[in-house]
Amino acid sequence: MTATQGTASRTHQSETAAEVVGRLRATFSTGVTRSLDWRVSQLQRLRALLVENEQELIEALWADLRKNAAEAKMQEIDFTVADIDETLANLENWLQPRPVEVPAHFGPTTTAYTTYDPLGVVLVIAPWNFPLHLLIDPIIGALAAGNTVVAKPSEISVHTSAVASRLLREYFDPDVLTVVEGGAEETTALLAQRFDHIFYTGNGAVGRVVMAAAAKNLTPVTLELGGKSPVFVAPDADVDETAKRLVGAKFGNAGQQCIAPDYVLADPATVAALVPALRAAVEAQFGTSPQTSADFGRIINERHFDRLTRLLDSGRAAVGGQHDRDDLFIAPTVLTDVDPASPIMQEEIFGPIIAVVEVEDLDAAIAFINERDKPLALYAFTESEAVKARLVNETSSGGVAWGQPVMQLLMTGLPFGGVGESGMGRYHGRYSLETFSHLKGVADVPLS
Ligand code: NAD
Repeated sequence: MTATQGTASRTHQSETAAEVVGRLRATFSTGVTRSLDWRVSQLQRLRALLVENEQELIEALWADLRKNAAEAKMQEIDFTVADIDETLANLENWLQPRPVEVPAHFGPTTTAYTTYDPLGVVLVIAPWNFPLHLLIDPIIGALAAGNTVVAKPSEISVHTSAVASRLLREYFDPDVLTVVEGGAEETTALLAQRFDHIFYTGNGAVGRVVMAAAAKNLTPVTLELGGKSPVFVAPDADVDETAKRLVGAKFGNAGQQCIAPDYVLADPATVAALVPALRAAVEAQFGTSPQTSADFGRIINERHFDRLTRLLDSGRAAVGGQHDRDDLFIAPTVLTDVDPASPIMQEEIFGPIIAVVEVEDLDAAIAFINERDKPLALYAFTESEAVKARLVNETSSGGVAWGQPVMQLLMTGLPFGGVGESGMGRYHGRYSLETFSHLKGVADVPLS
């Protein structure tokens, strides 16, 4: 055990959900979580957990998703550590009360300010696709804001969730942070409790279950959901560079990313140039046999494999299309001749298949996007500021990125979250503090 680890590594699986929440609420009620020192020391623990156990965590991510070490380190560990470091560097400043202008008729001695109040006990429910990052990242905000936490990892990413659960128990006082493992049944028991905030990442069907349960207690929720994130490739885009960046962004984690490019919209001439460029880019990145590439991941389980291979029937595999169920492998695939009414355009792909849909022009692309659910991310490849301005002003999405999909996630100064079907609320950096706090207004009118 290192100096940064907690004293007791108890397991709480024998406790009821009510007992867990009651215990964490008792801690919160003492007021201990409010001080800056307490918050900083919790964040330092979280940082130590990640840094001191990097290798074991990377191995678990490989076992679950065949995530290569470099990708696992960057996306699941380094990014999370960077978010902690940014929070540690700024927390004192972020927590300062902010004076507010008071209407003149209150007189010169009246003052007002805003201050961040911790909420209490928060529940973090994580998914399997970035099983470490999406478990730890919300916890950063929850602890920075002075709350106690129940963490519920995904039961599907068995290896990473087991290691992360064990480490969280080792590093944290169980009266500050408790891990509850399990699936729908255990989560349902948790959701029957009163929390002060619920932060859920996953699919929209369960998002609705979470929100309905939260409504019973008027508990605020953050729902980090998914959706079909479109990519508009304008005729002026350099197709080779576009293809290279699209392939890099789309096929990381075998496409199992909430903000992965889902489908491409482009005019027929651009599609004709882009498809061979995508083929070349896939080959440059993963070789002629991606199944043997150490850089290409696997599908999480048979259920998702079967779902994805059914979607291959929605078009023509101009690139890839090969699959091997025993190995949970689906090749990086570009599907052309996709009818907008086909199954692949009705659900989030969430795998290594990108659909290409031909549209006449930018107007048609904007109309296509607006006829569908609001996506988590919108991407475009263009040099034209006018095209970017039209896309950002005439469509709605959780966020946008021009020229480089997915990497916006690493910019912790940007809020990250969805809108409409892609979710509600936002986090990262300062936005995490806001999510897990109540911004309280304080008015002070002198008695004399
Ligand atoms: P998942 O199956 O791991 O489920 C997520 C969590 O919900 C798990 O902890 C699980 O135990 C719990 N859960 C499942 N069924 C439940 C039920 N009936 N009641 C209560 N809890 C239940 O992950 P998933 O949903 O397959 O994740 C993939 C989805 O998540 C995709 O749609 C993806 O786009 C989205 N996602 C969004 C983000 C984001 O940041 N916006 C990030 C990653 C994934």
